[in-house]
Amino acid sequence: MQKYLLNGFEVFKVLPISHEILRKKSHEYYNFTNKEEDILSIMVDTLRLYNKVHKIDALALAAPQIGWEKRLFVCADIDLQYRKKAKYIQKVDVYLNPQIIKKSNDLIKSDEFCLSFPPNKMVCVMRSNKIVMKYYNLLGIEMVVEAEGLQACIYQHEIDHLDGISALDKATSIIDSQQ
Ligand SMILES: [Zn+2]
Repeated sequence: MQKYLLNGFEVFKVLPISHEILRKKSHEYYNFTNKEEDILSIMVDTLRLYNKVHKIDALALAAPQIGWEKRLFVCADIDLQYRKKAKYIQKVDVYLNPQIIKKSNDLIKSDEFCLSFPPNKMVCVMRSNKIVMKYYNLLGIEMVVEAEGLQACIYQHEIDHLDGISALDKATSIIDSQQ
């Protein structure tokens, strides 16, 4: 994991999608130490600041993207984000050892960006419209969430990262947009 200062905050360097770590299956974690809680908090700052500084709209970041081979990701609270029509990320939740326990057969087209992609690159992926996901929160409590649409697609994208799969692998088309 490589850190640097962005706008005066410590953030992690996000690995490019070609990096070998993003091809590996990450490990389940069990107990967090203080050191790992620090990593998590810098991960949240990384997600917030990348968006702000690079004026992008990424809503989640998976641990392998910063070179940490653990099964976890951080994700903005999507509901809150859209309810508030917020430009910048409002609230970030942590999902530990996430696992999809049910997914719908109806697929939707999902246009996806990834912090590990070069800027302006997006892919179109077909994903399940509805999923049920099990995960653990920071207190170690097992949670079950039902997600639909954008939120379901983001969770599927992040869990793929934990299995060494990128959205590029599943892309039905690649969009290179120059803004
Ligand atoms: Zn991604």
